[in-house]
Amino acid sequence: MSHTPSIVERISSHTGGTPFSVEFYPPRNEKEEQRLWRAVRTFEQLHPAFVSLTYGAGGSTRDRTVRIAGQLAEETTLLPVAHLTAVGHSVDELRGLVGSYADRGIVNLLALRGDPPGDPLGQWVKHPEGVEYAEELVRMIRELGDFHVGVASFPEGHYRAQDLDHDTRYLVAKLKAGAEYSITQMFFDVEDYLRLRDRVVAADPIEGEKPIIPGILPITSLRQVRKIVELSGSQIPGWLDERLARAAGNGPEEDRAEVRKVGIELATEMCERLVAEGAPCLHFCTLNFARASQEVLTNLGMAPVPA
Ligand SMILES: Cc1cc2nc3c(=O)[nH]c(=O)nc-3n(C[C@H](O)[C@H](O)[C@H](O)COP(=O)(O)OP(=O)(O)OC[C@H]3O[C@@H](n4cnc5c(N)ncnc54)[C@H](O)[C@@H]3O)c2cc1C
Repeated sequence: MSHTPSIVERISSHTGGTPFSVEFYPPRNEKEEQRLWRAVRTFEQLHPAFVSLTYGAGGSTRDRTVRIAGQLAEETTLLPVAHLTAVGHSVDELRGLVGSYADRGIVNLLALRGDPPGDPLGQWVKHPEGVEYAEELVRMIRELGDFHVGVASFPEGHYRAQDLDHDTRYLVAKLKAGAEYSITQMFFDVEDYLRLRDRVVAADPIEGEKPIIPGILPITSLRQVRKIVELSGSQIPGWLDERLARAAGNGPEEDRAEVRKVGIELATEMCERLVAEGAPCLHFCTLNFARASQEVLTNLGMAPVPA
C-alpha cells in the first residue's frame, strides 16, 4: 500500500518556494456540489500541498464531510485533511467518525472543539459523554492509531480565552498532546500572525518549532466578510473596514468588483509578507471558489494566469 504523507512531511519536502493549501466546505446541495468539484479540478492543476474539508457544527455535515473527504482521497490527486469537531458528539461517536475517515484512507485530521450550533458565539455546552477541549480530542485520535493531527490557532487570540497568555498556553497544550502543526483562523494583519508565532516560541521553544500555517481569506464581498468574521469571533481592522466600505460605495448593492480588487490586493500583500517572514505554507479559505485564490497565487508567481 502506498504511504500517505502527513501534512508536515508534505510541506517540509516541498521544493521551489512556499507551498499553498486550500480549504473547502461540504456542499449543501447539488449546485454547490458542482461548484466544489469545479474548484477541486482547478486547484488540482495548481498542485496544492493539501486540501482541507470543514465539518459542520454539531455533526450537521457529518455524512457529507466523510463522503467528500473520501472522494477527495480516492478520486483526485489531492491530499485531504478532514476537520473533526467535538461539539455535540459523545466520545463513542467521535471514535466512529475517526474510523470512517480511516476506512477511506484519510490519516490527516484537524482536531477542533467546534462552536455551539445555531449561535456560534453562544454558551458552550459539553456533550455529557463528550470532550471539553480540542486537546482531549487530539489525545483521543492519537490513541486510536497512526493519525497525523493538526489543530486551530488564533492570531488575535480565541474570543473565549481570558487573555493571549492563556490562549498561547492552550495552543501549546494541544501541540504537546500530539498535534503536529496548527492552521490559523483567518486574519488581516500579518503582525498578529508574527506575534502569535513569537508567543508560541517564547512559551515553548520545542513546540514552537511546529508549523503555524496562516489562514488567508481573499475578500470578494464586504457583506460576506463582515458576516464570516462576526461568526468566528474575530475582527476586521478599522482601516481595512473603511477601505472596503469606500470600495463598496453607497449604492443599494455593494460594488463587488471594487471590493474584490481591494481584497485580492490585500491578500497578495499579506502573502508576500508571510512568505518573506518564512511562513511554512499559505492556506486559502476558498468558500469553494477557485478564482480569487488563483488570482492571488498568480500575483505571487505561484500559478499561471487564470484562463
Ligand atoms: C483553521 C480552522 C478550522 C476550523 N474548522 C472548523 C470546522 O470545520 N468546523 C467547525 O465547526 N469549526 C471550525 N473552526 C472553528 C473552531 O471550532 C472554533 O473557533 C472553536 O471555538 C475553537 O476551537 P478549538 O479547536 O481552537 O478549541 P479549543 O482549543 O478547545 O479552545 C476553545 C477555547 O477554550 C480555551 N481553552 C482551551 N483549553 C483550555 C483549558 N485546558 N482550560 C481552559 N480553557 C481552555 C481556548 O483558549 C479557547 O478559548 C475552525 C477554526 C480554525 C482556526
